[in-house]
Formats: sequence, C-alpha cells, structure tokens
Amino acid sequence: MPKPSSKAEPPSPDESLADTPYSHKGLTYPLGRSGPEAGEIMPLADGIGWTRSPVPGSLNHINLWLLDDGDGIALVDSGLDIPPAREAWETLFAGPLAGRTVTRVICTHFHPDHLGLAGWLCARFGVRLWMTRGEWLFARMLTTDVRDAPPAEAIAYWRAAGWDEERIAAETGKGWGRFASVVSPVPVSYVRMRDGDTVRIGARDWRVVVGSGHSPEHACLVDEAGRLMIAGDQVLPRITSNVSLALSEPEADPLGEWLDSIAKLRRLPDNLLVLPSHGEPFTGLHARLDALVEGHRGRLDALHEHLAEPRRAVDCFSILFGRAIGDGVYGLATGEALGHLRRLEVEGRAVREAKDGVYWFRAA
Ligand SMILES: [Zn+2]
Repeated sequence: MPKPSSKAEPPSPDESLADTPYSHKGLTYPLGRSGPEAGEIMPLADGIGWTRSPVPGSLNHINLWLLDDGDGIALVDSGLDIPPAREAWETLFAGPLAGRTVTRVICTHFHPDHLGLAGWLCARFGVRLWMTRGEWLFARMLTTDVRDAPPAEAIAYWRAAGWDEERIAAETGKGWGRFASVVSPVPVSYVRMRDGDTVRIGARDWRVVVGSGHSPEHACLVDEAGRLMIAGDQVLPRITSNVSLALSEPEADPLGEWLDSIAKLRRLPDNLLVLPSHGEPFTGLHARLDALVEGHRGRLDALHEHLAEPRRAVDCFSILFGRAIGDGVYGLATGEALGHLRRLEVEGRAVREAKDGVYWFRAA
C-alpha cells in the first residue's frame, strides 16, 4: 500500500485552538503542576502509576496510566508511533518496569497520540487491545485507507468551508491517510468495552463511561470507590478539547453530542481525582464541566452575532479562536468552525446556503 507522499506528521486532533491557559476557580491540583518525564513513573494512588509520552507541537505530552493488574500491568493509552515515544517505552521496560509484564492495552479513543503504539505494545507482549467498538472501527478504517490523493469528497468539503484553490492544491499534494504514518498496525481483534460495563483491573472496579463529540465513542474509566476518573480527552483541565465536524459525517452535530456528554459526566460525583490525557490530575470536575459549557455557549453566541452577514467557515476563525490560525492547524480550525456552525444550524439559529459548492451561513 503506498505511503503518503509527505513525511510531515499530521497535526494531532487533540491540539487545542481555543486554548485558555488559566487556572480557574474550583480546580485544585493535588499533585502540583508538574508531572513525570518520559521514561519515568510517578506513583499516583495505590496501584496506579503515571508516565508521559512526547507529542510534538503545543500539546507537548500525553499522560499514560499504568494500572496494577494481578501479575502485570494494564496500560491506558500508548503514545504516538514516533521514535522518541518508542524510546520512552524502552526506557521504562529497561528501568522501572524491568521484569514486569503487560496484561492488556486499553485505549480511551482512536486519536493517534492515544492509540499510536497500542498495536506495537500488544504485539510485543502478546496481549489484547481493549477499546469501544466505535473507536476500534474508526482506527481500523483510517489505518487501512491510505491513498496517493484525497478523495473527491474531501476536496468538496474543503471547498465548501471556503478554502482557496491554492490551499486545496497544497493539501492535495500531501496525499491521504497520514493517520497511518504515526500509528502502528491496529490489531485485527480486540476486546469491546461498552458504556456502563465494569472492568476489573487488579483490585479496582472501573466503570466505562462513554462520551462523544471529540471522537465517536470515547471511553472514560471511573472508579467511584477509589474516587478516580481516567478522563482521556473528555475532560481536560486547561485546554478545550477539539470538537470538529468530520468529513465522515457532514450532517452530524458533534458539538451537540459533546454538550450532551458533558451533561452526562456532570452526574458523576464531584469528589473524583480526574486523570486527564493532557495537563495534570485535578479535582473540581463539576466546575470544569460548567466552564466548558459556558465557553462553548459564549462562542456560539458570538458566532451567531458574527453571522449578521453571510459567512463561510473560514470567515469565523477570528471569532472562535482569538488567535492566528497557521497552515499547520488550518484543517483542525475548519472542522471546529464547521462544528459550531452546524450546532447553530441544528438549534435553528443559523441557515446554510450552498453557492457554487461553498457554504454560506447567516443568522436565522
Ligand atoms: Zn483526542
């Protein structure tokens, strides 16, 4: 199968564009504001370790969790398949994890910083990958769909969002299927996790709580007795998770699903120590969820005002992100702008008109 012509790494879908690095009311960081280096393990709670894997760009790292699991360790998330992330694992296996075995690899969702090395780890230890079905299928689909050029639907999607021909040509030159360039082969068999399942890992029972909007069927793991929540990207302390209208479902409403998921998580107890994939463990789940809703509602209102004149998705970046959008994150910004515009449309606050293949949105 041909590899994409460009070797450039795709931007992580976890990169945040509406990043507001503030410490806000109601959040505390019981372990402080720093974490382990790559190749190190910091003990977090009884039978739980924390390590980090390098991620290029503003994200800097992803947090990975190591859970005592009887004879070995269950891993939660895996890092990108890039040399420094593999080296971090080798350092762990030669050092703090020497002599330990891995019992299973659990991935919260399909994004490459979470899934990238899962297949490599599963093969190395001869163990199963645990995911929700929606996430596993998405990963399998994306890693097998590698082509020399983007399909016509992708070009139509970029044009509809307002991309100019020069940008479309540049993107077309990068090929199609860059996801596969930072993800090791995804196992063809897996163990399915379902919303509401209880997964016994070592001495703890973890309940699977599924959310949607950032990815199709994102799994959080909640140990209410131990007051812990492995949150993945469903709740992050300082950055707003990317919520994009994806090419695969152009008539979906990911931001609506995201807001519904926040309401669902808001019913969890407020006393959990939240273990996020980016940033530091924190308490204050409810305050953080409330702030996320407020942030999205504020952006939707500002966007609605901005649509007094008809606008394309690319005309909405300044309103939504309050920062310059460079070429590296232009695609992510487009998806996120379309996600917000689509939400306004679903709420009956905007209408969309297609003219020569370009979507124009105006306030209703
Ligand atoms: Zn993600």
